[in-house]
Amino acid sequence: MSYIGYTGRTPDCLSANGPGYQQLPFLWPGFVSRDETIGFHAESDNRMSAPTDESDRLPKGDPHDPFAAARRQMVEVQLPRHGIVDERVIGAMAVVPREEFVPASLAESAYVDSSLPIGCEQTISQPCVTALMCELARLAGDERVLEVGAGSGYGAAVLSHLAADVYAIERIGQLAERARRRLQRLGISNATVVLGDGTRGLPASAPFDAILVTAGADAVPTALVDQLAPGGRLIIPVGPRPRDLTMYRFTNERGQLRVEEFGSFAFVPLVSDDGPGL
Ligand code: SAM
Repeated sequence: MSYIGYTGRTPDCLSANGPGYQQLPFLWPGFVSRDETIGFHAESDNRMSAPTDESDRLPKGDPHDPFAAARRQMVEVQLPRHGIVDERVIGAMAVVPREEFVPASLAESAYVDSSLPIGCEQTISQPCVTALMCELARLAGDERVLEVGAGSGYGAAVLSHLAADVYAIERIGQLAERARRRLQRLGISNATVVLGDGTRGLPASAPFDAILVTAGADAVPTALVDQLAPGGRLIIPVGPRPRDLTMYRFTNERGQLRVEEFGSFAFVPLVSDDGPGL
């Protein structure tokens, strides 16, 4: 697949970095939309419009829910402050109980504006990062989505409200099992957790309208590009180090990849079972 959306450098910056991987071009000047560390401009995306009156629009929820106030603060204050504007994403995050996806000892911190440990040296992403990736996926509700890095299962739960079918791959068995149980307990039936190496994608369920990679890659796994449906979006943080990543959106436009960049991030590493290369 060839690339569009960048003007510079020679094709050697796209050359393979070991079997199955593609190095990224350095920059695509026309599409850089970085605003701050987390946040971006979305003027050109007509699916995204500024929320009007949040307090009228969001579900009131269970008045006895001890986390209701913190959840509302997250969606009404935290997410907009980070530039999240997609009302469907905000609505989804308003109804998913994040406290169910963190260890019980951290439930009180479930809505703080940061990532949290979930065991096995992994993390649940900062709420605004989950929101941003969902927003960048531009989901209308009828899509088939793959999440690489199921972790706690929270991202899959949010995506289950935004798309028709969600597949979430996790390489650590203990996390995959816990994520599966949480989704089941919440009655989420359109999200499936699969144990495996997500750098290979999920060929049996491909193609996908959106693929979200929630761990930091040092190159783009070719399998994920190959499993994009026409018009499909791949959202992936890529960079040389886990704390030095750039969020990219690759869109499959008639066999060419359009590339856009959305700011700097830190993630736990995307680990490939295929060994060196990532
Ligand atoms: N989306 C998750 C959530 O909502 O809790 C957070 C994901 S966490 C930041 C990244 C996850 O990616 C970790 O659970 C890690 O084990 C997983 N991971 C790393 N490399 C992977 C791979 N090759 N395939 C599948 N999962 C992978």
